[in-house]
Amino acid sequence: MTSETIRLDNTVTFDDTADFIVIGLGAAGASAALEARAVGADVLVLERASAGGGSTAYSGGFVYLGGGTRVQKLNGFDDTVEDMFNYLMAMTPNPDEEKIRLYCEKSLEHFDWLERQGLVFNNGFYAEKHFEHSTEDGLSWTGNEKVWPFSEQAHPFPRGHKITVAGGQQELGMGGRKIMDTLIARVEESGARIVTDANVKNLIADAAGRIVGVKYKTFEGDRHVAAAKGVLISTGGFAMNKEMSERYSPLLADERVHIVGSTYSDGSGIELGLGAGGVTQDVGYLITCPFYPPASLLKGVLVNKEGKRFVAEDSYHGRTTGACLLQPDRKAYLILDNAIFGRPEFGGQQLVDAWDNFADMERDLGMPEGVLQKTLADYNANAERHEDPDFHKYHDWIQPLAEPPFAALDCSLGSSFYSGFSLGGLATNAKAQVLDTTGKVIPGLYAAGACATNIAKDGMGYSSGTCIGESTFFGRQAGIDAAAAQDY
Ligand SMILES: Cc1cc2nc3c(=O)[nH]c(=O)nc-3n(C[C@H](O)[C@H](O)[C@H](O)COP(=O)(O)OP(=O)(O)OC[C@H]3O[C@@H](n4cnc5c(N)ncnc54)[C@H](O)[C@@H]3O)c2cc1C
Repeated sequence: MTSETIRLDNTVTFDDTADFIVIGLGAAGASAALEARAVGADVLVLERASAGGGSTAYSGGFVYLGGGTRVQKLNGFDDTVEDMFNYLMAMTPNPDEEKIRLYCEKSLEHFDWLERQGLVFNNGFYAEKHFEHSTEDGLSWTGNEKVWPFSEQAHPFPRGHKITVAGGQQELGMGGRKIMDTLIARVEESGARIVTDANVKNLIADAAGRIVGVKYKTFEGDRHVAAAKGVLISTGGFAMNKEMSERYSPLLADERVHIVGSTYSDGSGIELGLGAGGVTQDVGYLITCPFYPPASLLKGVLVNKEGKRFVAEDSYHGRTTGACLLQPDRKAYLILDNAIFGRPEFGGQQLVDAWDNFADMERDLGMPEGVLQKTLADYNANAERHEDPDFHKYHDWIQPLAEPPFAALDCSLGSSFYSGFSLGGLATNAKAQVLDTTGKVIPGLYAAGACATNIAKDGMGYSSGTCIGESTFFGRQAGIDAAAAQDY
């Protein structure tokens, strides 16, 4: 589905004009508006909801930054641009080297820019494995840096920088709310014009295909606005749109996956871009069902319905869940012993039962005879030597399952709480300009954030913080480039 681009002709009368039109006031839109205003461009932000915030306001508030930030250094992590680059290149399917290089090389500058906007990263380090930690600490592990084979492709360093919420985060999402409250306050102060309840329905192009304005719907009726320098689509993802999910990422349309984020993450901006000649690229999803914390559960053994292991259990939760979704019937069980037993805090994985031995467990879980028993016997024998030759689990998490009773937690899709959102959208270059089917720039049109494809492309490679990181970073690139463009 596309949104038709209106051709500029005598019938189009503009009600207003701006240098740069930003469609959507989330992380990407706010960052773009700030950069364009910083050099004096006349910026108009059109937001469909009654207030800005978007899905960013629901988020954990992690931003993936590295290369030796102040917080990393103060905690003894001598991260380098090269390590960050190597890690992101290794984790990203079909990586865009130019964008990843730029993102890593400018990561320190981006950290400073975010702090200059009033977003504080406190100097504390949260060392535990977590889903969304509730302390004020500004740094933690939010990816697969210590997971084999990535740990051998780049020196592992934590890069999840969390916006500090004074007094700690009492509820999920407070970090994201803090980001958006802060950025929106800055946009308001900057002199950008913000119109809420403004639903952009169409782009407007001249005869040569250059985007020169937009048409939007308000409670008062339709309005047309001309853009002298450019238009940014920063409308967020598409997971709330079932038809789009079925087309791009069918698992997001599965009733057993709970979609999180703003209801306006319905892909309207991707449709605007497609209507202007844009294309989608590497579209995927993050679906997650974390079984940790408590961290002791990482010492468990994750098996499929055939009783076989399939992933290093200490992987980041998006990767572990991605691997569960690839198993037969999307079924998986986490096997524990009495020494490490705990109840998952976020994923809702139910206890199937507890047994005195693995043979009875295997039978009751309906697994082929002998397979689970062999899996666990091999695992335990290797664990005695602190080794995991099959999946190279990090040594902190290797411990034989030796103390009965033995338990199985049901990690299968449909049995526990799987939630997700979309990743990727319109193809863009490193300046956030939208590309057409031949890879050529569509003049006057930019896209950034969850409606564009940059670094975060799939759950298996996802590191928390890359979405807000790329939304703010490539949003800024759009604002900088558009403000410097010649007037139409
Ligand atoms: C629960 C949750 C937790 C997350 N945690 C993290 C995290 O900790 N770190 C991380 O990096 N990522 C996280 N993410 C992902 C991240 O929040 C998003 O990918 C990112 O914030 C998207 O920013 P954005 O500016 O592109 O879109 P959004 O923040 O969604 O903003 C888009 C805006 O555009 C508006 N809009 C939509 N259509 C139109 C239209 N046609 N006209 C006008 N306006 C329109 C919307 O109303 C919205 O305000 C999380 C996501 C969720 C849902």
